[in-house]
Parts: sequence; structure tokens; C-alpha cells
Amino acid sequence: MMTFEEKIKTFEKYLKEAKNVVFFGGAGVSVPSGIPDFRSATGIYHRKTGTHFSAERIVSNSFFYSYPDLFDEFYYKNMVYVDAKPNSCHLKLAELEKRGKLKAVVTQNIDGLHQLAGSKNVFELHGTIHRSHCIKCHSLHNLEETLKEPKGKCKKCGAHLKPDVVLFEEPLDNATIIGAINALSHADTLIVGGTSLVVQPAASFIYHFKGKRLIVVNKTPIDSLLFHTKETLIFVDDIERFFKALNLDDI
Ligand SMILES: [Zn+2]
Repeated sequence: MMTFEEKIKTFEKYLKEAKNVVFFGGAGVSVPSGIPDFRSATGIYHRKTGTHFSAERIVSNSFFYSYPDLFDEFYYKNMVYVDAKPNSCHLKLAELEKRGKLKAVVTQNIDGLHQLAGSKNVFELHGTIHRSHCIKCHSLHNLEETLKEPKGKCKKCGAHLKPDVVLFEEPLDNATIIGAINALSHADTLIVGGTSLVVQPAASFIYHFKGKRLIVVNKTPIDSLLFHTKETLIFVDDIERFFKALNLDDI
């Protein structure tokens, strides 16, 4: 068994030798930035909603159209974190992209923290809180406009704004899928971080990875068939501790 330090050294060596790294991340990436995850015991889906609807029911397409005000109440309280800042995971990935090592971030998160950290090539499988569109006049609104009073309403026609996040019952965006699959299938090294790979279809995307080296960082142990067919380095650890320990000087 390698120690944490030995494993970090091995990871640094992998990065040094890599030419095309892709990061695939989930909710755990944003937890150190103060954004709760969805599925753990303290996650957003276990929150009391103040209604007889479950959180998962509320964050669905049909619920949005049936009860837009209840949707908004839950959504802006539990899913939008305007003050969240990127953590060392976001920042070091952005730095790796700047150096030409990292080619893409594929994320299940909707918070836009990778872009805030400076990442350019980001595929947001579940959309983003940073853009909404009017269900009536179809105009686009950034988060700042969306949050202005009347919050969640179109500033042009007054109709409801629908956040450009993928709700339950909705498919993923096609162009995003194609971009993500393309990035994953060209990578020689894949880092999977802060995700327990349970959310489909997102989790199945990693099977497009054909490269040889796979690094997995997650707080709880996960297993996947892919892990047995690659040169794999597994960290059952906090993602921020992992990225803080990573030294990019020599990479
Ligand atoms: Zn409108």
C-alpha cells in the first residue's frame, strides 16, 4: 500500500507524462466551496421542503411548469450559491489547462466555479445556474439579472424564467454530450473526482475514456469496471486535501 504522499508523487509523475488530461467531476468538487451535495445524508435532496413534495419532485420539469413559485422558492434557496468561491481543485485544474496539460473539464455541477477559477473548456452536463431563459419571450438572462427583483421573472415581459439547469424528466443537452464524449475519448489520462458515479447517464460517460491512466479521488470508496482495466490510482480522500497536496511546479 502506498502512502498518501507516495500516491501524490505518482500522480504528479502521471501528469508530467500526460499529454491530454480530462477531469470528470461531481458534487464533491464543490463541497469545500460551501455548496452542499445532493445525495448524501446532509445533501439537498434530504432537505425539508416545507411542502409535502420531495426535493427531487420539486426539481423536475413538470413541477416547474405546475408550481413555478414553489419551484423558485426551493431553487433559489437551495441550489444557487452566489458567494461560493473556487477551491484548490478548481484553481489547480484551471492552471493545468493554462499549461496545456488539461484539455477539458466535464462536470455534473451547475455552479460555474470551474469557469470562475479560469477554466475555459468546461462541459456542464447538468447545465448552469448562471443562465436562465424566459418561458414566454425566450430571452436569456444571466444570474445577476435573474436575481434582481422580481426574482426569477423576465425583466422584459414579466413571465417566469427557467434556469438552464437540467431538471428531472429532461434530457441532457446534445452538444454538451458530444463535446464531453469527444474530450473523454481523446484523453490519455482521466481524473475522476468528487463523484460516486451513481447519477446516470452522466456516470456512464467515463466509459468513453480509452486512455491508460485513471486517477480517482472520492471521499467514499467507489468501484467501477473501468477501474480494473486501467493503470489506476485511487484516493479515498477529501478532494481539497488531494489538490492542495498536488505540486504543479515541475509539471
Ligand atoms: Zn420574457
